[in-house]
Amino acid sequence: MTGAMNNRARLAKELEAFPVRWKPGQRMSELTSLAVGGPADVVVIEDPQCLPDVVHFFRSKGIPWRLLGGGSNLLVRDEGLRSIALQLAPERNGVLFDGPRVEISAAASLGTAVTRCAKNNLGGIAGLVGVPGTVGGALHMNAGAYGTQIGEFVKAVKVFRGSTGEIEVLKPEGIRFEYRQTSFAADDIMLSVTLELIERPYERIVERIKQCNQKRRASQPISEKSAGCIFKNPPGYSTGKMIDDLGMKGMRMGGAMISDRHANFIVNRQGATASDIFRLMDVMRERVGKSFGVELEEEVIVWRESP
Ligand SMILES: Cc1cc2nc3c(=O)[nH]c(=O)nc-3n(C[C@H](O)[C@H](O)[C@H](O)COP(=O)(O)OP(=O)(O)OC[C@H]3O[C@@H](n4cnc5c(N)ncnc54)[C@H](O)[C@@H]3O)c2cc1C
Repeated sequence: MTGAMNNRARLAKELEAFPVRWKPGQRMSELTSLAVGGPADVVVIEDPQCLPDVVHFFRSKGIPWRLLGGGSNLLVRDEGLRSIALQLAPERNGVLFDGPRVEISAAASLGTAVTRCAKNNLGGIAGLVGVPGTVGGALHMNAGAYGTQIGEFVKAVKVFRGSTGEIEVLKPEGIRFEYRQTSFAADDIMLSVTLELIERPYERIVERIKQCNQKRRASQPISEKSAGCIFKNPPGYSTGKMIDDLGMKGMRMGGAMISDRHANFIVNRQGATASDIFRLMDVMRERVGKSFGVELEEEVIVWRESP
């Protein structure tokens, strides 16, 4: 224990050489929308230019790391993380307009970016307004809602490539965007994206934003702690409908419950633990498999590593 503490104190001292904030022992339950997960050491990158040096530093010490966005699609074990959770600090000028194109920093909030674009008469992504989290997380996941996926609008992505240690600008031809899945490598860190949007009057975009917000409020437990849909929809099936048809809405494991509003959402009702959620996911997977012959694939990203 004392050895580990000494190591962390030494690490904190060494990190003073970089423009980063060291936040040891953060509860992941406070950094994720599901509000579960044990402790992790967090390093906030204040200046993205230093990313190659910081990653090189961790590599040279054999310290694993992971990239934390807004934490709205993450499930972390109760034991916490052995890896460092790297997080990009939001930039002051995170949204830059150039005609129908907009460059947005990866740490920016997706919802805020959508409304900033609307104010500049740029639409097409109004459907994404209610997707929580960052632009970087949305890119990694190819976030989508109401017929819109972010990948459709991407013209360039500035990315730090863990494999080469270099920052590159990728064109859309070099990226595969699929349903809640992309070809980015696990150690790619998105720094910014250039989207090409559709020029439209502000009032029309706001009308669409209102419609999408209304639909979301009517069908999802947006005021509760969740990570959105837990499982992807298998081709030709709706996971929510299958779970609903099985009468599983409202089913509980400890403090975790299958939402009574949307059967593909697990909500943290009463101090759920990650293991409550894992147990509930197992039952959902098993019953759907048995009744529909379909294997459910996780949409939520699970950081399963042992401490
Ligand atoms: C109430 C609710 C509703 C939701 N509705 C939707 C919806 O309609 N559609 C939808 O698609 N999703 C939805 N989600 C899920 C979630 O909001 C999205 O997946 C979101 O895009 C995740 O972004 P994040 O910044 O929170 O990423 P995180 O949860 O922090 O991370 C998710 C993954 O992205 C990676 N990542 C994050 N930032 C970067 C970066 N800069 N570079 C490289 N990798 C990165 C992480 O390493 C991790 O693998 C919903 C979630 C909630 C809680």
